[in-house]
Amino acid sequence: MSLIVIVDDRVTNRNIFAKLATSIEEGVAVRAFGDPIEALDWLKDNTPDLVVTDYKMPNIDGAELVRRFRQLPECADVPAVVITVYEERSHRINALEAGATDFLQSPVDHHEFLTRARNLLQLRKQQLVIKSRATELERELMDSERFRKEVLRDNRERLAQVIDTVPALISATDKDGRCVFLNAFTANFYGVDAAQASGKTAAEIFGSNFGPQSAGLDRVVFENGKGLPSYEEEIVDRAGNRHVFLTTKSPLRDRAGKVINVLTTSLNITERKQAEEHLHHLAHHDPLTGLPNRTYFHDSVRKQIARTRRGDKQFALLLLDLDRFKGVNDVLGHHQGDQLLKAVSQRLCNALRETDIVARLGGDEFAILQTEIGRTDDAVTLAEKVIKLLEQPFELEGQEINTTASIGITVHPTDGVDVDALLKNADLAMYQAKAEGRNAWRVFASDMHAIAREAIVLESDLRQALAKKQFLLNYQPQIDLRSGQIIGAEALLRWRRPGSGLVRPAEFLPLAEENGLIVPINEWVLIEACHQAKRWSKDHPDFRIAVNLSPVQFRKQDIRQHVLDALEKTGLDPRSLELELTESILMQNPESAASDVRFLQEKGITFSIDDFGVGYSSLSYVKNLPVDRLKIDQGFIRNVNTDPNDAAIVRAIINLGHSLNLKIMAEGVETAEQLAFVRSEGCDEVQGFYFSPPVPAEDFAFLFNQQNLLARTA
Ligand code: C2E
Ligand code: MG
Ligand code: MG
Repeated sequence: MSLIVIVDDRVTNRNIFAKLATSIEEGVAVRAFGDPIEALDWLKDNTPDLVVTDYKMPNIDGAELVRRFRQLPECADVPAVVITVYEERSHRINALEAGATDFLQSPVDHHEFLTRARNLLQLRKQQLVIKSRATELERELMDSERFRKEVLRDNRERLAQVIDTVPALISATDKDGRCVFLNAFTANFYGVDAAQASGKTAAEIFGSNFGPQSAGLDRVVFENGKGLPSYEEEIVDRAGNRHVFLTTKSPLRDRAGKVINVLTTSLNITERKQAEEHLHHLAHHDPLTGLPNRTYFHDSVRKQIARTRRGDKQFALLLLDLDRFKGVNDVLGHHQGDQLLKAVSQRLCNALRETDIVARLGGDEFAILQTEIGRTDDAVTLAEKVIKLLEQPFELEGQEINTTASIGITVHPTDGVDVDALLKNADLAMYQAKAEGRNAWRVFASDMHAIAREAIVLESDLRQALAKKQFLLNYQPQIDLRSGQIIGAEALLRWRRPGSGLVRPAEFLPLAEENGLIVPINEWVLIEACHQAKRWSKDHPDFRIAVNLSPVQFRKQDIRQHVLDALEKTGLDPRSLELELTESILMQNPESAASDVRFLQEKGITFSIDDFGVGYSSLSYVKNLPVDRLKIDQGFIRNVNTDPNDAAIVRAIINLGHSLNLKIMAEGVETAEQLAFVRSEGCDEVQGFYFSPPVPAEDFAFLFNQQNLLARTA
């Protein structure tokens, strides 16, 4: 429904206009005022759809009414028609300026009034429709905008939550290197307050070490406008723990594509890294000693070769093998063997510079890569140092163990240009050191190939010697000094090797001990010696055969059963058998060796200690040894007439032995003077070239039967 307001001071006009207005359309409401002030007052609370006002009125004119009307709320667009007299144009201008919509000329033509009023009302209606559509639209717009913002804020919060809970270091910096954001994980990691971090520099947040480094990389990203490829870095957390992170830096751009921030994300890969390292370590280290293994060593040498190729530097390779390690393992057991290997690797590590590498290639074989040597002598110096270090006794679980090592040396590039050649030649040199008496070093020389070939042939020949019946025994008489009679013989092994004549034990026994052949060989020796003794004892019931035992055999075999079997098989009286032990057998394995010895002693077998005096500096331990006889080492006898020290030692051994009720035999007596000395000191028995060298069985029988030695002892 439309509302029309008429303002005119003349009552006639007012009535006419009111009447005309009512007839415009159905349902139109008309309100007529004579006083413009009164009209304005009413209009404050009522919004009309059309205002028709006279211009000339008392109090205020039509223009002023329109001006004030336009100030009222909701009235700015309501059509307002001002009735003016045609002649007075200035009124029209005033009214226009005041905001009038249209004019009617006075006197008003009724038809024109109706047409004009109808049009203006129509316009007003359209205006209202448009306006309401606009407000609606605006509201819709506003609503949707609010929604969008909410969604945005929601998303942002959710995103922030996600970023905060992701177990990764996430932060962003601006062009000035100042922090614009960091997640809770980062804050916690560095022990900083996330809310206060923004605006701070990397150094302030991450510390003076890591901060500048990160900032420098950020600058690179800003300058290049490109992200950095992921890289690994070590970062220390607030508790001082080290972590490995995989870090990515990428640019953040504004709408225009300009880089405004650098985003840094770091994933903690410490565990993966550790697992990787562990696997790598396992693949490259020896589990027993923790030393690098063969694979690792080969790699290191290869790298070293590549490095030296660039300059004219040299490096050396030292191949080290423990002497008679197999014996240690056999005699003392694998546990002690392992302990020894560990102790050896520890000593080796201590001997080296940081740039050198020591590896365990397997078994008792170690290798040292000595980087950057000036000349071969530098490697020799190291080898000598290592040999000295290993000569010191090892104290393992309360037990003293002695070991030595043989070392082969090769120098790159002289002795080989690749790993295999260097190692192979070092192996030859090492073998040479062993062959020449062990506990020594050798530098590789080209003729070693020939020597090595010989050694290989020796081993294969030795393996066949038993089957081919190439072993035989020689017998060396043992004489009682009181009676001058042969009381026994020592059985000494010989090898009739095709093309080499009779080979002495020193040339093949070390090898046999190392490869274990000693066990079947000595088994043969024992039975053969017992057979022979059995034959001789028919005519000489007091005859005694002495057989050497090897430490390896002592440990490996059930020695008790082994000896009893031999006696049973040959029918020899146990009292006719003496077994020669070395000091090391009894010292290294005191309990079990002693109990074996006692067991066999109870059966009637006697025991002697061979080469007595060389092994241990103190002789006082002898009282604990369960033996019957000491054989003074021939080294002391040799100089007994020239070296007062040796003479004193021999005298001491004899006295000590006698005080313990042991028989004393002097070995290696070659001259009458030596014989005179040991006799005068009270020695009981002798063995040596002075009487006879070791001889074949038939020759010995001859000696024995002659007993022609008596005269010489007198
Ligand atoms: P050993 O038990 O001390 O034997 C004595 C060695 O000294 C023998 O050397 C003998 O020929 C030598 N000899 C004896 N009298 C003299 C002398 O007056 N002057 C000099 N210079 N030497 C003398 P051989 O036969 O070469 O044996 C060397 C070592 O080999 C033996 O030392 C023994 O330890 C070992 N051996 C020999 N046969 C066997 C065996 O069947 N089994 C084991 N396990 N070892 C054996
Ligand atoms: Mg002997
Ligand atoms: Mg001896």
